[in-house]
Amino acid sequence: LPEQDAFDIEYWLLEEAKLQRMPKPKALAGRVALITGGAGGIGRATAQRMLNEGACVMLTDIDQNSLNETLEAFQQQYGADQVDAVRMDVTDEQQVQQAFSSSCLRFGGVDILVSNAGIASSSPLDETTLENWNFNQNILSTGYFLVSREAFALMKRQKMGGSIVFVASKNGLVASANAAAYCTAKAAEIQLARCVALEGAPHGIRANVVNPDAVLRGSKIWTGKWKEERASAYQMNTDELEEHYRQRSLLKRNVFPEDIAEGVYFFVADLSSKSTGNVLNVDAGHAPSFTR
Ligand code: NAD
Repeated sequence: LPEQDAFDIEYWLLEEAKLQRMPKPKALAGRVALITGGAGGIGRATAQRMLNEGACVMLTDIDQNSLNETLEAFQQQYGADQVDAVRMDVTDEQQVQQAFSSSCLRFGGVDILVSNAGIASSSPLDETTLENWNFNQNILSTGYFLVSREAFALMKRQKMGGSIVFVASKNGLVASANAAAYCTAKAAEIQLARCVALEGAPHGIRANVVNPDAVLRGSKIWTGKWKEERASAYQMNTDELEEHYRQRSLLKRNVFPEDIAEGVYFFVADLSSKSTGNVLNVDAGHAPSFTR
């Protein structure tokens, strides 16, 4: 190489190396995420993922004690400027509106909604009471409607687009024993996300779904009677259940709240900017496409 060219190349390589060493701006810096069920297993792991990427997070949950505890832990780690919390029952229209207003006052808006708050209950069809049916529909299907409608209206007004992610369930796609009310409500969430995607597209609002398979550890659902109910539906004891989930997956792995948080993060971050109305199963390979 002529001397000048060699000098230029060396110069630019050094500049490039300097750039590589410079701290990168965080992927979600300047964005505000509202997370429902933020004091539960998946919600908390998702909040952590977003906080690590620089987002401001408004945690919401019906469980005030868990919410306080989660907020305290996050504020210690990230500082009070980046995270706040407000108690919200997703079935209460007024509380939903108030939580979004709180986020606007505290952080200036909402760019990301993670609709995740949920329950699980199990009963054979002929023992499913209307009360139990309505309980599932109210928290899951109706709750997801109320929070996504609020986010949608706000994002439209903000005119900056947005990303809405529903944490539904693989049971919204495949039926599971003794869980008609739950499966049906989860299916409604998935179809609702597609409708939000359709109406949101002209406004730059994306809506996608993450479907977890059973997430036993870290989930409050599983510390309740759901674990026993599932075990009895599969005619197993609770110790055998986790191994059963692992063995039936193609990858022979269990999934954890952090795995679901990665899926949510994908749909929130710009790397999925051309994905909307999509469903991602985080299930180590136990999707409806396989017959095992
Ligand atoms: P979790 O119980 O640890 O967390 C759920 C959170 O939702 C709790 O903190 C709870 O207080 C909150 N919540 C319940 N009812 C509420 C209401 N009316 N208003 C506001 N908050 C409410 O459970 P998780 O595993 O983190 O579940 C999160 C989501 O993932 C749920 O929608 C659940 O159906 C779904 N999911 C979970 C699994 C699993 O195996 N854990 C599998 C598939 C789907």
